[in-house]
Amino acid sequence: MIFEGLNEKFQNIFSNLKRKGKLSEEDIKAASREIKLALLEADVNFKVVKQFTKAVSERAVGEEVLKSLTPGQQFIKIVNDEMTKLLGGELQKMEFVEQGINIFMMVGLQGAGKTTTAAKIANLLRKEKKFKPLLVACDVYRPAAIDQLEILGKELDIPVYLNKDEKDPRVIAKKALEFAETEGYNLMIIDTAGRLQIDETLMNELVDLKELLEPTEILLVVDGMTGQESVNVADEFNRQLEITGVVLTKLDGDTRGGAALSVTYTTGKTIKYIGTGEKLTDIELFYPDRMANRILG
Ligand code: GDP
Repeated sequence: MIFEGLNEKFQNIFSNLKRKGKLSEEDIKAASREIKLALLEADVNFKVVKQFTKAVSERAVGEEVLKSLTPGQQFIKIVNDEMTKLLGGELQKMEFVEQGINIFMMVGLQGAGKTTTAAKIANLLRKEKKFKPLLVACDVYRPAAIDQLEILGKELDIPVYLNKDEKDPRVIAKKALEFAETEGYNLMIIDTAGRLQIDETLMNELVDLKELLEPTEILLVVDGMTGQESVNVADEFNRQLEITGVVLTKLDGDTRGGAALSVTYTTGKTIKYIGTGEKLTDIELFYPDRMANRILG
């Protein structure tokens, strides 16, 4: 069960409200305060929490929850609506080009799940869109990352472009693009280097790769187990690279919800996929309303 702690707290808040029957403005204020605490405990960014609870309580008072015949239900609906909004509103589709090569760049901190997600997306789009994918190993700093991508490629029977002797990811990317053009690949997924923290060399390298490749999508991979510190990271990646979307990984684990609920508000970019396990088929499109239901329901 994802977001178990948060889910439990919302359940408690809601059942107290439902039990009450009629609600006073004070009841709504109290419930909003409890929601605020629950979200802060889940390590949701403070600004997000403030904005969210303000929107919920204003609507709850304004939309006459107080006079409603089922005030508890009405309040829950408002929380659900606002949470869906916070998570990006509607499903955000991936961008694809009809002609030429779709290029996706995976970026993020080390361990977030870039390599795994690159393979998952290649596999998914080969099946769904009949794309002919090529995985490209541009993490030149960690030979183990190149080996890992090679292993995943073999497992999926998807070719991996790599060059262990080349230390400049720009050169690898350029050659990979030429290779993709001559061999007729129409989807290239680039696995880039991640660090434990953002540093300038890494960012410059990514900016160069972006200029060189003009990617269709730049996907920031964020570890869903993390909290709001990952949101600062997301913000920085977005500022430098103008990412096109987020992939939230490890939602099968013991996640508190902080990253999931903060990342879209902070970056203005929506979550496009979620990783739900270590298997290469454990990836899903992200539906904000379904996620809100999972968190609240
Ligand atoms: P990278 O350093 O960003 O390339 O991260 P990796 O792709 O190597 O992933 C780091 C670890 O997280 C690996 O052990 C993956 O199997 C694991 N991982 C990635 N995505 C998921 C996911 O959605 N769920 C779980 N449980 N593990 C994941």
